[in-house]
Amino acid sequence: MNILVTGGAGYIGSHTVYELLESGYNVVVYDNLSRGHVAAVDRRAVFVEGDIRNHQLLKNIISNNTIDAVVHFAADSQVGESMEEPSKYYNNNVAATLALLDTMRDCKVNKIIFSSTAAVYGEPSNWPILENMPTIPTNVYGRTKLVIEGMLADFAMAYGFEYVSLRYFNAAGALKNGRIGEDHAPETHLIPLILKTALGQRKEIGIFGNDYDTEDGTCIRDYIHVTDLAAAHRLALEHIINVGGSRIYNLGSEAGFSVRQVIERAKAITGIDFSVKETPRRAGDPAVLVASSARIKEELGWQPRYSDLDNIIV
Ligand code: UDP
Repeated sequence: MNILVTGGAGYIGSHTVYELLESGYNVVVYDNLSRGHVAAVDRRAVFVEGDIRNHQLLKNIISNNTIDAVVHFAADSQVGESMEEPSKYYNNNVAATLALLDTMRDCKVNKIIFSSTAAVYGEPSNWPILENMPTIPTNVYGRTKLVIEGMLADFAMAYGFEYVSLRYFNAAGALKNGRIGEDHAPETHLIPLILKTALGQRKEIGIFGNDYDTEDGTCIRDYIHVTDLAAAHRLALEHIINVGGSRIYNLGSEAGFSVRQVIERAKAITGIDFSVKETPRRAGDPAVLVASSARIKEELGWQPRYSDLDNIIV
């Protein structure tokens, strides 16, 4: 099977590329390197630098490599930036994905795995979050991903597309052999920023808001190991290739940790008492996001193996 991975030079993309290669798939990575790193792409994959809005190039890549299915990661994914630059997010996420789907149609490829996000739920009133709960995003990033999910449903209905949309909670951690990991520039995610602080590369870690309606006043998130996410993509691919149809799944560890708890755990594991500063809230952050992953466990047999804080931080 030949799989095109857009954004395969990025964080979750590169870990999924590794998982697919280990499982015997042929992989073509297509990435414009706006955020990704070519060094993160496993040498067994074919790498092509390009933008998904480049119709002709993408069309050639899909037909020359007789692509069977697409795993679509390429996107901008920072909540804070999305609130300041919505146009960038509608262009790079919504418009670019529409271009990708149209090119797939042209090439008669109709199977796609899509990187969605827990941010589609906004401020849910109950936890854990189930896939059928209301989707009312509180930030532009989440809204762009929800628009794309709508596009996928419409393409499925009208053109026979089959898709699996994976709503990730907080991806974290690195490949166990240490060859690849999280490397964003600029880095905005909590766990890598904490570890940079512990390493002395930053003066302090900020806690964005201490007045949320949670036990210790800081936001609660569900951290899922990137290797467990990668395995879910492989299962989702097997599902649309062997069974077909379209599904939406949450992907989380089903356990919530507050920002303060993550910081305390990192201090205990590293043995370093780095400095912490309480700062105002960041725009667009919901108080609590904790998944139910029961649906993907039951339907695809997915089981998280590495998604505990210790495994993620070490
Ligand atoms: N956060 C924080 N300080 C930081 C970075 C993040 O307090 O320097 C908080 C952020 O407000 C959120 C949680 O940590 O509640 C996780 O944020 P991250 O950016 O890692 O992921 P997101 O939840 O936005 O996908």
